[in-house]
Order: sequence, then structure tokens, then C-alpha cells
Amino acid sequence: MLSFDPDNVSFCTGNYIDGQHTQQNYGQIEVSRPSDGKAYATIPESGIDGVADAVEIAETKRISSGWSTCSPRQRGAILHRWADLIEEDAAYLGQLEALGSTRPITDVINHEIPFTAEAIRFYAECADKYSGDLLPTRKDSLGMLIPEPYGVVAAITPWNFPLSMASWKCGPALAAGNAVVLKPSELTPFSTLRLAELAVNAGLPAGVLNIVQGSGLTTGSALVKHPLIRKVSFTGSTVTGAQIMSDAGFNGMKPVTLELGGKSPQLVFNDAGDPAEIAQRIFRGFTANGGQACVAGTRLIIQRDIAPALLDHLIVLCQQCLPGNTWLETSRYSPLIDSRQGNKVQSLIRQSCLEGGEILAGGKRFDHTEEGWFWQPTLLTSVEQDNCAVQEEIFGPVLTVQYFDDEEEGIALAQHRNYGLCAGVHTQRLSVAMRAMQSLNSGTVWINRYGRSGDFIIPTGGFMGSGIGKDLGRQAFQACQRQKSVLIDF
Ligand code: NDP
Repeated sequence: MLSFDPDNVSFCTGNYIDGQHTQQNYGQIEVSRPSDGKAYATIPESGIDGVADAVEIAETKRISSGWSTCSPRQRGAILHRWADLIEEDAAYLGQLEALGSTRPITDVINHEIPFTAEAIRFYAECADKYSGDLLPTRKDSLGMLIPEPYGVVAAITPWNFPLSMASWKCGPALAAGNAVVLKPSELTPFSTLRLAELAVNAGLPAGVLNIVQGSGLTTGSALVKHPLIRKVSFTGSTVTGAQIMSDAGFNGMKPVTLELGGKSPQLVFNDAGDPAEIAQRIFRGFTANGGQACVAGTRLIIQRDIAPALLDHLIVLCQQCLPGNTWLETSRYSPLIDSRQGNKVQSLIRQSCLEGGEILAGGKRFDHTEEGWFWQPTLLTSVEQDNCAVQEEIFGPVLTVQYFDDEEEGIALAQHRNYGLCAGVHTQRLSVAMRAMQSLNSGTVWINRYGRSGDFIIPTGGFMGSGIGKDLGRQAFQACQRQKSVLIDF
């Protein structure tokens, strides 16, 4: 039985620094549950002082504990134990995540927790698999390229997937020998505290992974600017990513990994296959986590002949969808994170209709969902390429529908002027799929599927306004090391 009583879950609410939960007297921020809007806890606004504590301890402990200099295999063993503890703690960790985030408990237990643990295992395995390079120099010299950790890495995570985002940032940074100071979103702060506690229980030296709470503008910004932070890894909106890039540049020229927004197309050709099956794929692509995923496939671009059948199936799927609080085992559909996000979704749909858009399904909040913002899966048609719903990241379960006749037209519609995160191409013809893959301005192209698999070897990251650098894959591990060039004369 996975259902639980949301008023009966106990948890820590402060920072986690040097292996201790701390309760500072810094200003307090109220935290609410997405499912019913009820305020249920507060967190501190750590600000400059709280960040300084966390970063200075991370730098001291990184060196004094030997984390940066121990054998990489030792680091890998501790990360493996951490992954095991996460799975053993699934019942409690899952409740923390389902209580405060938009993820229903069944989804958290079946997907989020195993994915979090597996991502950490992937980087545990990377720890001793990458070496530097020997460089061809003169006969009486030896040239080498030696990877080394940066020092303390700042990780800033969003509210849509708190646990897995933390594992994507901490896994590679820790495996490569860095210390990490992580600031979770103020909207979903608690599961990350437990994650860090489990890391220390697994043998990670206290102080090597610290969690600071607070808002992005105050605490997040102080973290990016702290002089001992040597690299920044961020997932969130494009606007905040740009601000972080600028702050990182002006405060020590820190390298950044930025995984940002998207407005990803799903390009469906007439020969894609069974319309009922394709409709399921498209539906999951834009409604998973209530559409609050950077990779959400929110622009359906569909060839004319398959359009009527596919849309009929999609409308039925939208109508069958039922809301349910995240702490109930039967719930499958996520609420929006808060009223601010709800108002954003609502106003963009209204604006889209003023610009000519027509609602084919959904278009409003579900009735009878207490104070939670459960938004009906929404199909918007009659939208031109410059319609706001086609151009702007809505971050809700809203799919725009556009039509094309030939391949060239379809690919042109699929390109976005700002974003380039992901794209789905659905066709049985290899040549069409490969031409589309080559033309699309997207960091990831999925062919005859939509969404990530459990293959952590495949990196993820966007082009243009969708980001810089990659999360996951070997690339994320290598991005957590700097390369030192050495030349020895003998
Ligand atoms: P943000 O990008 O503002 O927030 C993401 C993270 O960055 C949070 O931890 C936030 O802290 C922190 N942050 C905010 N400003 C700064 C800063 N100046 N310096 C350092 N850290 C900062 O996203 P929002 O929560 O405001 O959501 C707005 C929109 O962003 C959504 O509607 C959606 O379109 C997009 N988004 C995209 C995500 C993705 O996965 N690519 C994830 C989340 C949002 P805090 O929340 O505590 O203020």
C-alpha cells in the first residue's frame, strides 16, 4: 500500500552542512503542497552567510577528508553504497518527494527513485574509468594531460524532478572528486536533505555534500558568486540560466553546465504507424509530470492524412485523464507546482486564443481539486508559427497542433527560433527519419519514441536557448574535471 497521510510525515527543514541538519535563524520561506495548496513547512533563507558556511566547509572537508585525492575506486564504492541506501529508503524518501513535489507516489516509487539510484551507480562506475592523455612531444620530454577535480561545485536544481536532478548533478561531480553545495528549489526542498543524509550514511565524508535552502534570487545567486565555487551546474529556465552564466562570468569565470527550457516538436508522418499507439506516445510526451518537464514534447506537427485519426485518439486520452492527490496510490496525473505556474498556463492559453488558437480539448482547471492546480490536458489548434503557445515554454499539459503536407514544410515548422532541446520524429521510413534528424536544431532527437530511457550513457542537453553542456553520459563526468597540461624535460 503506497498511499500515505500527508499530515503525518516528519522531516528536517533546515540546511544540511557538515553532516548535520542545522536550523539557522535566517528569514523563513513558507513551503506548500502542490496537490492541495496547503502550507506545510518553512525553510530558511540562507543568504550570503549560510552559503559561506556551506561552501567553506565543503572546501575544507574536500581536502582534509582526502575525498579529492583518494583512489577513484574508493569514491566509486561509496557512491555505490549511496545508491543502495536510496533504494532501501524508498518508502520514506518516496513520501517526502510525493508530499512536496508534483510527482504521484506510485510514479516516484516505480521511476524516480530507481532512476536516481541508477544515475548515481552510473557515475560510481565512471570514477576510475577515465584517464588523462599522453601527448606526442619531443623525444627528451613527456607531455601529459591530467584531469583533476575543480574543487567545490555549485548545483542548483529545479522543482520538477528534485531527486533525479540532484543525482544528475551530484553523481558526476562527486565521482570526479569534487565537493558539492546544492541548492534545491524553494518549492521542493525536503527530499534533497534526506538524499544528502543518506550519502553521509553511505560513507561520504561529512561536509563534502552540503545542502543550502533559500530562494534563487538571494541564496542561489550568493552560491554562484561565492569565490570558492569553481563550477556551476544548473537546471531551470532560460532566463535564470542566462543570469547564472553572467554571474559566473563576472565572479571568477566559472564554467557552467546549463540545462534549460524547451519547446520540443513531435513530428508525425503519415506512415508513423498505428494512430492509437502514436497517440499514446504523444500524450505521454506532453502530459508527463503535468507537462512540467524541460523535454516535454509540446508541439505536435502532423502530416495531413494521419491527422484526423490521431487527433480522435488524443482527444479521448485527454478526456479520460483524472486528477488525484500525489499521496494516493491510484493517482497518475500531476498537479501544477503552484498558483503562479497555474496562472502562467491559464494566461498563455487565453493569449493564444486571442491570437487565433482554438481549444480542441481541455483548456481549463479540473473541477473539484481543492486548492491544487490540476490542469486538464489541453489541445490547441489553428495556431500559426508565431502564436505565443507555439513560441513560449508553457510548462503545463498543453499541446499545440500544426499540420504539414510535405517533409520540408514539416521540418521547417519543427524548428524553433530560440529553443533546441529535444525532438520526436515518428515515421517508418529510415531515410525520412535520418534527414529529419540531420536537419533538426535539437540536442536530442528521438525516433519512434518520445522521452528518456534508463540509458544513462546517453547525454542530455540543449542547443541555443536550451542550454550549454550535457547532463548524464560520460560527458557530464568529464565536465566535472579540469585538464592540466604538463610538460617534463628529461
Ligand atoms: P527558475 O529557473 O527561476 O528556477 C530554477 C532554480 O534556480 C531554482 O532552484 C531557483 O530557486 C534557482 N534560481 C532562480 N534564480 C536564480 C539566480 N539568480 N541565481 C541562482 N539560482 C537561481 O525557474 P522557476 O521556478 O521560476 O520557473 C519558471 C519557469 O522556468 C517555468 O515556468 C518553466 O518554464 C521554466 N523551468 C524550466 C525547468 C527545466 O527543467 N528546464 C525547471 C523549472 C522551471 P528558487 O526556486 O528557490 O527561487
